Amino acid sequence: MFEVYDTLKRLVEIAQPSGFEQPQAKLLAELAAPYVDEVYTDTLGNVICHKKGPGKKIMVPAHMDVIGFIVIHIDDEGFLRFAPLGGHSPVNLINTPVIFENGVRGCICPDCTADLNTPYLGGLRIDSLYIDIGAADKAEAERMVKPGMAARFDFPCEKAAGGNIITPYADDLIACVTLLMAMERAKKTKNDMYYVFTVQEERGLRGARVAARHIAPDVGIAVDVGVCSDLPGENKGTSKTHAGGGALICVKNGGYISNLPVRDRIRELADAHKIPWQDEIMSAGSTDSAAIQTSRGGVQVGGVSVPNRYAHSPNSVFNIEDAENVAKLITVIAETEF
Ligand SMILES: [Zn+2]
Repeated sequence: MFEVYDTLKRLVEIAQPSGFEQPQAKLLAELAAPYVDEVYTDTLGNVICHKKGPGKKIMVPAHMDVIGFIVIHIDDEGFLRFAPLGGHSPVNLINTPVIFENGVRGCICPDCTADLNTPYLGGLRIDSLYIDIGAADKAEAERMVKPGMAARFDFPCEKAAGGNIITPYADDLIACVTLLMAMERAKKTKNDMYYVFTVQEERGLRGARVAARHIAPDVGIAVDVGVCSDLPGENKGTSKTHAGGGALICVKNGGYISNLPVRDRIRELADAHKIPWQDEIMSAGSTDSAAIQTSRGGVQVGGVSVPNRYAHSPNSVFNIEDAENVAKLITVIAETEF
């Protein structure tokens, strides 16, 4: 049985950033294989898990890429300049440990040109940060790391109080876990289910864009993380959402507005199965559903998310029960005429 914490921990330990997803693609394909009719990988690296059913063709993507960094230049002193892979706020990156795919460890630091007095006012730029890998000079650094290599946050996946988990990569590995749980649990699949672990979501929904054209679904339901409003201060960018309050069902985010029949059907199924849920109405952010919606002649979409605090930071917090509820909801979507 897939368990939220254990499965997520396995994924977090190996996950690589956008464009470098092969390790998690391999593991996810292996884990999914026993529960679906076929698993295949497309040209860009999306892992497509097809469970046949007589009803509507439903594409349920969860992106498997995580945010990270790519080395663009090594300076004479052996410090690495980097570009972001995915969206980062430079403020979150100061003095943050990172690890390269070959095991080299480093720390992101601000150089002397960095404005640390007004970092929240845009005074801190990502190009005034560098990675220190402890190399004595350029030659030594080049023996350890090459330009073009990717790094990720070097933080674990740990249990916290209140049934919460702290990890940098809930986005979107926890959604990948909920897809596995649904594949395993759905006994009779009423719909023609395409569970897709997509690549490069954080770089413009590229994987989903391609997979949607190939699969040509009737309906798209992306599974991702949402945000929480249950934080100190007032968060005006989101509807009232809290960790532990249930699955988020998307009304809108910065990328798409859910098509009403899909949104309402998901709500109906959640109510019928007593799955707690919350409205997700966000002013910013996007998910793979935005790419599916505008594919071909248009596809009706909705979205389901796990509420998550501090997404796109070195550590985010989410509640295990919420992930369980998202998994239940996807299971019901697979098992019921949509
Ligand atoms: Zn995401």
